[in-house]
Amino acid sequence: SYQDTTNTSREDLGRSTWTLLHMLAAQFPDNPSRQQRRDARQLIDCLTRIYPCSECARHFKEIVRRDPPMVNSGKDLRQWMCRVHNTVNRSLNKPVFNCDLVEARWSPLDCGDENASSCDMGNWGMGK
Ligand code: FAD
Repeated sequence: SYQDTTNTSREDLGRSTWTLLHMLAAQFPDNPSRQQRRDARQLIDCLTRIYPCSECARHFKEIVRRDPPMVNSGKDLRQWMCRVHNTVNRSLNKPVFNCDLVEARWSPLDCGDENASSCDMGNWGMGK
């Protein structure tokens, strides 16, 4: 039952958002379609405007302006995401994450043996 009335903190919001972003990158295809590249760019761009911590959004806008999203492959997006997260980490005096370990920390969802491909963004809308 939904009895939890604890307010969401800036930290909770940040952890949830980084989970979404790193998981999205973990499952971003090796050869994304134009639509998938556009979607990733637009999602990131929207966060620089409507992320629900306006100070964070302002900081992030500046980070993205200096280091635009790399959306040409899953590997590129994962490394970019790790890099911009580290930029935020540094500004908050948090430890820097070793980006060689990003694929071990954030692996694609385990959707079960039978329909593992239902987790695989690469198969969406490909008219198989
Ligand atoms: P988080 O930084 O939330 O990280 C969650 C987990 O991700 C870590 O435990 C670690 O396992 C992993 N991780 C850490 N670094 C990396 C990396 N580089 N690559 C891959 N995985 C990694 N807070 C502010 O106070 N001011 C801001 O301006 C601000 N801007 C933000 C902008 C954005 C776009 C987002 C998403 C969040 C922002 N935050 C900001 C929140 C902040 O980044 C943290 O999410 C929050 O402080 C909680 O930190 P945490 O130590 O729990 O770990």
